[in-house]
Amino acid sequence: MNPVFSYQSCRLCPRRCGINRISANKPGYCGENAALRLACAVIHRGEEPPLTGTGGSGTIFVSGCNLGCAFCQNWQISGHQNRLGKAVDTALFARICLALQEKGAENINIVTGSHAVPAIAAGIAAAKDAGLHLPVLWNSSGYELPETLELLADTVDVFLPDIKTLDTAIAARYFNAPDYPDIAAAAIKKMIDLRPLRFKERESGPAAGSSRLVSGVMVRHLVLPGHLEASRKVLRWFAALAERNGNALLSLMFQYTPPNTALEAAPKGNYSDAAFPMRYITPAEYNTALGWLSEFGIEDGYCQELIPGADWLPNFERTNPFPQDMAVPVWHWKNGFFRIDDVR
Ligand code: SF4
Repeated sequence: MNPVFSYQSCRLCPRRCGINRISANKPGYCGENAALRLACAVIHRGEEPPLTGTGGSGTIFVSGCNLGCAFCQNWQISGHQNRLGKAVDTALFARICLALQEKGAENINIVTGSHAVPAIAAGIAAAKDAGLHLPVLWNSSGYELPETLELLADTVDVFLPDIKTLDTAIAARYFNAPDYPDIAAAAIKKMIDLRPLRFKERESGPAAGSSRLVSGVMVRHLVLPGHLEASRKVLRWFAALAERNGNALLSLMFQYTPPNTALEAAPKGNYSDAAFPMRYITPAEYNTALGWLSEFGIEDGYCQELIPGADWLPNFERTNPFPQDMAVPVWHWKNGFFRIDDVR
């Protein structure tokens, strides 16, 4: 068996804690033991158009995280102080996937599962055995090892990695991971090797003729306020990568929101004002970043509009963590499955 596959001396991710997640009293950096814990599963309408489609993306939020960004918008489920969620076994994970499929999801979208690859791969395999036929998306921070990604070769159809930064100082300051730039760049290269880009045209329904992304890599970059030069470096890197491989899309995101809720919840003194940017992206920063897309000849991909505000931020204490028009809940760590009447 591949040594990264073992929870007995976990080296599944670049943190390489080496702890026994089956018996250790103290979990590794990701905060999780061997159990797979989920926060919720929803039909999500906020992803890029070829992922959301008309049915929405069947999004499963995994509890815990191996990166732990200081400004995480999902801090209630991923942070080291807050990791809401419930343990699910392989059979329940498969049932959740099938419930999303029954509710019309266009895909199964696993969010932040890098620390739980073996359990998720087993759950997807069980779901496929029971009739899951949707493409599987892997929505991750990019802080992953190539050999671990290899374990997903038969599981994942579309990779959605972040490239958060290529600046080691930013990676050290915000993610406690100065090796993030090299690790993420290698992980994305591996993903491109694993999955060629392929769209499929919808043949019927209200969106007939539009495209679904069914295989490939979409690289996401969130522009950080006050760190424009770091984003320029990322865009230049992506342009060169796309030119060499021609096999990846870019999604440029501007939704950075200062994590006031994290500030309130964190133990006093754990975060300082310098721990993360404390403002939104400005229109000037937005326009500058858009200009670089043209300068670097990046044409294939998606770009978020600049809509300041925090209304969209999830609250995983709520049974629907998202605004009504953005998501329909299917399963939640507190309530389990929703009846169809509960979500109308
Ligand atoms: S998956 Fe968790 S326990 Fe394993 S190496 Fe990474 S952070 Fe450590």
